[in-house]
Amino acid sequence: SETVERHEFGAEVGRLLDLVVHALYSEREIFLRELVANAADAVDRRRFESLTGQAPALPEHAKLRVVPDKAARTLTISDSGIGMSKAELAQHLGTIARSGTLAFAQSLAEAPGAEKPSLIGQFGVGFYSAFMVADRVEVTSRRAGAEEAWRWESDGKGQYTIAPAERAETGTDIVLHMKADAEEFLDPWRLQAIIRKWADHITVPITLLRDGKEEPANEGTALWRKPRSDVTAEQYRDFYRHIAHAFDEPWATLHWRAEGTLDFSALLFIPSAKPFMAMEDSRESRVRLHVRRMFITEEAGLLPPWLRFVQGVVDTEDLPLNVSREMLQATPVLARIRKAATGRVLSELKAKAKDAEAYAPFWEHFGQVLKEGVFEDAEHRKDVAALLRFRSSAVEGWTSLADYVGRMKEGQAAIYILVGDDPAALAKSPQLEGFRAKGVEVLLLSDGIDAFWPEQLGTFEDKPIRSITQAGADLSAIAGATAEGEAADLTLLLPRIKEALKDEVSEVRATDRLVDSAVVLAAAQHGPDLQMARILRRAGR
Ligand code: ADP
Ligand code: MG
Repeated sequence: SETVERHEFGAEVGRLLDLVVHALYSEREIFLRELVANAADAVDRRRFESLTGQAPALPEHAKLRVVPDKAARTLTISDSGIGMSKAELAQHLGTIARSGTLAFAQSLAEAPGAEKPSLIGQFGVGFYSAFMVADRVEVTSRRAGAEEAWRWESDGKGQYTIAPAERAETGTDIVLHMKADAEEFLDPWRLQAIIRKWADHITVPITLLRDGKEEPANEGTALWRKPRSDVTAEQYRDFYRHIAHAFDEPWATLHWRAEGTLDFSALLFIPSAKPFMAMEDSRESRVRLHVRRMFITEEAGLLPPWLRFVQGVVDTEDLPLNVSREMLQATPVLARIRKAATGRVLSELKAKAKDAEAYAPFWEHFGQVLKEGVFEDAEHRKDVAALLRFRSSAVEGWTSLADYVGRMKEGQAAIYILVGDDPAALAKSPQLEGFRAKGVEVLLLSDGIDAFWPEQLGTFEDKPIRSITQAGADLSAIAGATAEGEAADLTLLLPRIKEALKDEVSEVRATDRLVDSAVVLAAAQHGPDLQMARILRRAGR
């Protein structure tokens, strides 16, 4: 009819569909995880928006329904969630909203078969995975607050249509017309097993139509509310994988209950693998806030940004169930939980750091993020500094500031650092010569943030932290071999060099910092160090 609008998918969607449908054949069952997760998200969003009066209240027994129909060869997934307007259908199901999705699918398609499951686990392929099992998908949706409903429909081959439709209540139905070779996904037992495997921890009840009856399909227990002794390592792992969309083992699992002035349960995880998505996309912690089991939001900032790699759930008794966005911003409860949880994570890291070998992979994945804490969090700066690890001019592997201080030479007053972009270049830098000759260790820093935090920290165990590119880093108080040629009289040469370089340099001096090289660039003692000067120059200052 005339009211049916026909649209082309964006070029990126076409490419993604192609990859998803053709490259992931052996992993087809995850389409159900993706659709159920979307439906659960939609219910959670509606619940939260209804608290602020933006959406009508959820029906009392809101649930997700999974309905296989063998005769019609359809599988329907229905929710009473937030729904989608006409514009949202086109936006969310016609484009790729999340950056990185296409690149991910590409790397997935190229990965060896054995690695695929782990890659998929790290990153949902989303709604379009429906086309792995269906040759036609209909999405009928009514947005919360809207009177009208819309139907989106596509065979996943370049086009979709949107037309007016009927739906008695707010929410969404996804109808999959199954491919001939995907009939296994119409078998209730097969569906049950998939839900158990991938969606058991979704706290919205899921029902499955089996023998004409709606049977509960997920356990939906709030694992974090159980005593630790009642939870197996496997249950922790599965839950972690579910909430973090991950496939690795948790590197650390923190599960505790606070009672007294604050009343909350927390179950937090530190991943053992670096997530596929760059953690630079958003700096906010995504730890989920629940109030009396009910999911509220993952935007409560329950941990500081420099702990954003921590995944998990905090469930509190100290907020009302109908907490509003404004209340979340104003309540002191969240700040107190954040303080307690931050302390807890830090003490876990401190304990784990005692085992250098076990700590190294954590440091390699998340050290850069942790360093942000030294830069921006005055309250925790000292504790975080003790958790930092470095490459060094003197020792192999990772070393800590405390270990460095333990190795300082007699007469050495400062902790010396050299900051740059490239770890290999740092190790060969002429800046190190005089320090090497005297046997003075230098820490080599090459993360982007390294130009910033040392100045904020200032000292460690009362030893000032000094960049060796700052001309004042003075070695004369330290015993040991000195650079040769010191005796040479440079009083005539130095002014000539200065004259030749004019305003390129502010001063030319003799130094005891070089052994093999003739000259080295140095920064002014009280100005920015060389790496900082480079950064400021790049920024056009
Ligand atoms: P993601 O879930 O990672 O955002 P998806 O491809 O799975 O990516 O889904 C894209 C978007 O489509 C979702 O973010 C959401 O806005 C919308 N969406 C999908 N399914 C539903 C649903 N059942 N109810 C409401 N919105 C949905
Ligand atoms: Mg999704």
